[in-house]
Parts: sequence; C-alpha cells; structure tokens
Amino acid sequence: MQAHIAVLAGDGIGPDVVAEAIRVLEAVEAHYGHQLLFTRALVGGAAIDAVGTPLPEDTLTLCRKADAVLFGAVGGPKWDDPTKPIRPEQGLLGLRKGLGLYANLRPVRVNPLLMGASTIKPKVLSGTDLVVVRELTGGIYFGVRGRGDNNTSAYDTMTYTTHEIERVMRAAFELARMRRKHVTSVDKANVLECSRLWREVATRVARDYPDVQFENLLVDACAMHLIRRPSSFDVIVTENMFGDILTDEASMLAGSMGMLPSASLGEGKRGLYEPIHGSAPDIAGQGIANPLAAILSAALLLRYSLGLEDEAAAVEQAVDQVLEAGYRTADLVTDQTTRVTTREMGEHVAALVTRG
Ligand code: NAD
Repeated sequence: MQAHIAVLAGDGIGPDVVAEAIRVLEAVEAHYGHQLLFTRALVGGAAIDAVGTPLPEDTLTLCRKADAVLFGAVGGPKWDDPTKPIRPEQGLLGLRKGLGLYANLRPVRVNPLLMGASTIKPKVLSGTDLVVVRELTGGIYFGVRGRGDNNTSAYDTMTYTTHEIERVMRAAFELARMRRKHVTSVDKANVLECSRLWREVATRVARDYPDVQFENLLVDACAMHLIRRPSSFDVIVTENMFGDILTDEASMLAGSMGMLPSASLGEGKRGLYEPIHGSAPDIAGQGIANPLAAILSAALLLRYSLGLEDEAAAVEQAVDQVLEAGYRTADLVTDQTTRVTTREMGEHVAALVTRG
C-alpha cells in the first residue's frame, strides 16, 4: 500500500525518538513492500523559533492531507515564559482541534521483563493489558470559565452533548471488538448531571454491541481498582478530565514513561500518534532517550490508520524480543541488562522487523 505520513518531530527528544520510529517504519516498508511517504513539518517551539507560531498553517494543511501524523513532543524551558502568550503546547491542542481528534487511546501493557520498574507489586501487575479511551475535545477543559464577585470566586463549566458522548463510546466499543470485548465506562453519575447523561448514552450504545461485555464504574472506584486489580480491565472509556487523571495513573503501571504510546483518532482513519512522554529537555540530543514509546506509537499508526495489523504486531513483537535480548536504554538499564543508545535501540527493533 501507499500512504502519506506527516512527521512532526517537535522539540527536545522529539526528533531523537521520531527518527527511530521512522527507521522502524522504513523497515516495515521494505520488508512488506509498502510505500510510505514521509513529509516533515514544524510544530511547537521549533515552529515558534522559525515562523513565530506553534502551528503554522502549512503544517495543519499537510496533516489534513496525510493518512496519519507521527508526532514527537513539544515544549521546553526556552519557551516557558508564562508572560508570553504563544506557547509550544498550543501546537498540539490546535492539531487535535483542527483534525477533529476526539478519542485519545492509551494502551498500557505491562511487559513481564519490566515489572521491576513499576512501584506496584508484580503479582498485581501480572497480565495487565488495557486501553484507556479518553474523550479529548469536550467537557470542563473546553467549557465557559471565569471569575466573579471581585475575584473572590471562580467557575469552570462542564458540558457534554449526546453526540460527543456517543461517538467516543462507539470508538471504545469498536476497539473492544478488536481486543478482549469488555468495556468499562467511567463517570461520576452519583453527583454530576453530565455523568448521568454519559451513563444513559453509554448504556444505550452498549445495546448495539451485545457481543461486548459492558459495565459502568464511578471514577473514584476506577482509580482504586486500577492499582488493585489492573489486569481485570480491557477498554476503559471516560470523559476528558477523568481521562486525563486516569491515563497518568494507568501509565505508572508500566513503570517508565519511555514505553507508552498513544493514538488520537477522529472520524475516518486519520490519526495522530505520539509517545505519552514530553520533550524531556534534560536528556535531549544526548542519545539516551528511550525511543520505544515512539516506535510503539508507529505500530498503532500501522494498525489504526493504515489497517496493517500484521505489520503492527510485528513491530510490537520486535520490541518484546529486543527487551528479551536484554537491551535497555538508560532509563531502564540494570546490572543484568545491556545499555544501548537511542539509535542502537531503533536499529535493533528495525533489524528484527526486517528479519521477519
Ligand atoms: P517529560 O515527559 O518530558 O519528562 C519527565 C521525565 O521523564 C524526565 O526526567 C525525562 O528525562 C524522562 N523521560 C521522558 N521521556 C523519556 C524517554 N523517552 N526516555 C527516557 N526518559 C524519558 O515531562 P516534563 O519534564 O514534565 O516536561 C518537559 C517538557 O515537555 C515541558 O515543556 C512540557 O510542557 C512538555 N510536554 C509535552 C508533551 C507533549 O508534547 N505531548 C507532553 C508532556 C509534557
């Protein structure tokens, strides 16, 4: 197949890890006979420096035309001045909005070889393989907010429409059908009206998926069960703010930020794929960043935007094999394992993909 991929490496370790994701995608391209056309564009701090805006019009146009967007990370101390109105993160928010990406998927799979990196006991983590689907473009983060009574009060408002809830709910159920067929919808229906609507819509959508097991769970209970029995979850779907908090909690199950990929999807197949970590300016350009989250994001790109399930699984297997062979970047290296650079890690994964 032929596909166009927009590459937005961004700032800090973004370019370091994206280079390795592309190396692995090129190995997929060669081994399976596909043609992937990569076009690079500016975003974040790098774009502010070059053209004065974190999301140049050219970049958004390129992403709209592409089949998928491979994203690194944005931000860093250079652009951190709170008095400046233009910030690198606006590039990512603008992309999500501009591309209509309303469902953020964060898979968390605990590799048995890396269990020691988590603060949770291995027997609790064993078998954990879940995805949190977070609603990304609605809710309290986008509601009316302000101050009142001479600055002695403040308010933020949460609004959801049935349309917004239904489309993310369907994304979660469709995903569950590709996995272990279990959906947990998370809300605060005992208190919030938005959550009561969320639960009504979730329960209605669930009837269209009789092959998928379905449950509702309150967000406080979910936060508890995530660290008590994480392996019991398959797909968790929730609104924007709850998802923001639960995805960070879930990411800690895997131990390292350098291991976790994400996908942001909207209508159609186009999506944006990025590691969940930030630009890690403390280690940028030193060849020590872990590129596996970016490489696993490339695997999600193959699966969800290009429909190449075998190729996606091959990349994920190659990552497992490289870890089994004992290769680790600085964030995960131990006395019993072999330390490799960012580039060497990418080369090992690419070599295994090429070998098939
Ligand atoms: P961070 O994720 O960049 O780094 C947190 C810690 O994890 C650091 O010690 C870093 O060295 C380490 N780390 C992160 N990714 C790693 C990797 N792949 N390999 C090895 N170690 C890794 O978070 P932060 O320090 O809070 O933020 C740094 C900058 O990134 C800020 O400007 C922030 O706004 C931005 N940020 C961007 C995104 C994004 O682009 N999606 C997300 C989060 C933070």
